[in-house]
Amino acid sequence: MLKSQIYKIKTKVINKARIKSPWMMHFDATSCNGCGIEILACLTPKYDIERFGIVEKGNPRHSDILLVTGAVSYKMKDRLKLIYDQMPEPKIVIVVGVCGISKGIYQGCYNIIGPIDKVIPVDIYVPGCPPRPEAIIDGVIKGLTLWKAKLEKYDEKKENEKY
Ligand code: SF4
Repeated sequence: MLKSQIYKIKTKVINKARIKSPWMMHFDATSCNGCGIEILACLTPKYDIERFGIVEKGNPRHSDILLVTGAVSYKMKDRLKLIYDQMPEPKIVIVVGVCGISKGIYQGCYNIIGPIDKVIPVDIYVPGCPPRPEAIIDGVIKGLTLWKAKLEKYDEKKENEKY
């Protein structure tokens, strides 16, 4: 009983810290780089996505949010899947730009498999070609709300397995 309560309090404190400081990774599946530049703009002092505690990371093992740009090519498919699998649970995938949503300018290309959700599950779609930094930030904030709910569910499941 006491053990379970200590576990609950510990998880609550850790979750509060995680929600206030999510780490994010950007993966370019196959894009023209237009969306990537808008993501970079989000990190500049003008848009300042870091004010939400978000830190851009280059390692999927440390990331809670995956931002994907571009459509998936045959060459990138396995890499995207591997990066997704390496991320700790619970995780959020946000697709930025129409290429990742519906192939965009890559329609009919021989080397393109299709949109991102053909390879990994996607939680949030941010349309646009490219979307403005404000739209990307809006997508990330929506993703954070979803991630918070996923985190609570995940911990509940873990706790039920433990006790
Ligand atoms: S959505 Fe537009 S800007 Fe973004 S990768 Fe595709 S073509 Fe480039």
